[in-house]
Amino acid sequence: MTQLAFKAARKTSGDGPGQVGFRDIVRGLRDLGLNRNSRVTVHVSLSSFGQVAGGAETVVGALMAVCGTLITPAFTYQTLVTPEEGPPLNGLAYGSSPANETAEFWRPDMPAHPTIGVVPNTLLRHPAAKRTSHPALSFVAVGPDADEMLAGQTLADPLAPLTWLTDHGGDVLLMGVTHRVNTIVHVGEQRAGRRQFVRWALTPERIEEFNWPGDSAGFEAITDAIKPYVVRGQIGQAHVQRIPAEAVVSAAVQLIRKDPTALLCHNPSCERCRDMRERVQPRV
Ligand SMILES: [Zn+2]
Repeated sequence: MTQLAFKAARKTSGDGPGQVGFRDIVRGLRDLGLNRNSRVTVHVSLSSFGQVAGGAETVVGALMAVCGTLITPAFTYQTLVTPEEGPPLNGLAYGSSPANETAEFWRPDMPAHPTIGVVPNTLLRHPAAKRTSHPALSFVAVGPDADEMLAGQTLADPLAPLTWLTDHGGDVLLMGVTHRVNTIVHVGEQRAGRRQFVRWALTPERIEEFNWPGDSAGFEAITDAIKPYVVRGQIGQAHVQRIPAEAVVSAAVQLIRKDPTALLCHNPSCERCRDMRERVQPRV
């Protein structure tokens, strides 16, 4: 193999032995059927690919190169505070939480909470990225529909950007992650009539009160219901899947209508799922 051909081959398959490169990700995304018209909410585990040449920047670059508009949660749990008292069955232990001592004031350039992942924080740093100003549940988006998609978010309806995506033919893209982090399932919970919780966050002006979705740890239970709609692929070591947002939301609605406790987790120490069960199936 000539030096030049060798270099070209390396570029196609990644920038180093065993590495996943920009072109691998672009090809994998196109194989899923994504293109410039795609509106996509994306959840990524960077480590799931194996080694990515260029890291999160490469993943964000490939997503932007293939898709039209991208949106992802940039949630900032750092701002949350717990009051001494509040509404009942709110999935929260009231009282002086140690987190109150370390809570930070919301600011527009605040990084997303570390548990949200490195890709949202990379997208936040992109000069073309737009972010909502919700003090705890902000979204970051980039692309031609970003402004319109983000515009509807309010304190009462924090998931409005994902509702917009659902109603405009959008897709869910899971890269190396499961439905446990698939935020748009909350839109289905809302449409099925599941009432949201209430939370509070610090802003420079005041303590802001807003609606808050339930726990997502039980969302894998949606897997069978959406099976016919899933397009699967593999990029490096990562299992990737694209599902039409509407299919995910409709499946969640149907599951909850059939069983009001559907998609709740079974962890006995999960306060939100415990209180949601209590709300829909009060003990006698
Ligand atoms: Zn739970």
